Amino acid sequence: MSRPPGASFASCVDAVHAARTRSQIERQFAARALPRLIEAGVGEESTLQVSLQFATLEGKVTVEGDLSGLVELTCQRCMQPVAVPVDESFRVVIVGDDSATPEEYGGYEPIAVDATQLDLRWLTEEQALLALPLVPMHRPAECPVTSAVEVVERVIPEDTSPRQQPFGNLRDLLRKR
Ligand SMILES: [Zn+2]
Repeated sequence: MSRPPGASFASCVDAVHAARTRSQIERQFAARALPRLIEAGVGEESTLQVSLQFATLEGKVTVEGDLSGLVELTCQRCMQPVAVPVDESFRVVIVGDDSATPEEYGGYEPIAVDATQLDLRWLTEEQALLALPLVPMHRPAECPVTSAVEVVERVIPEDTSPRQQPFGNLRDLLRKR
């Protein structure tokens, strides 16, 4: 037993070891432990679950993650709280070089961190920021001020989007580039 007591609950893991043993790690974080989410307007009671599968690609550590949860944001139509489901997957590769691009690593998003001390709290926060809707809103039927907005939408013929997130999230925008 070389591992100090309680180490398995720390937010840092040795991702090199986790990749070698092809480990899967699951964690849950309260939003109040993720200060950049609080800054982005997420309510403190929100929680996020992350499931991480570690592997290697050309000698580098890769992490395939699934992020899920329900975060409380402010509806940009009525300015009341709205619970927004988060359900995102991501693929990152740990590299030593800040200038690496996803094209070099088969679509894995390169992150330049110390793989032997990967901070899962930081990674979750980083990925959650990308997954938040840019313009959070209630579904039309649940928003107090929808009736006025619906009138506007009806006169815009090209608005055929079936989803209720007209502007998507930051990750969608990055993917489209
Ligand atoms: Zn609303």
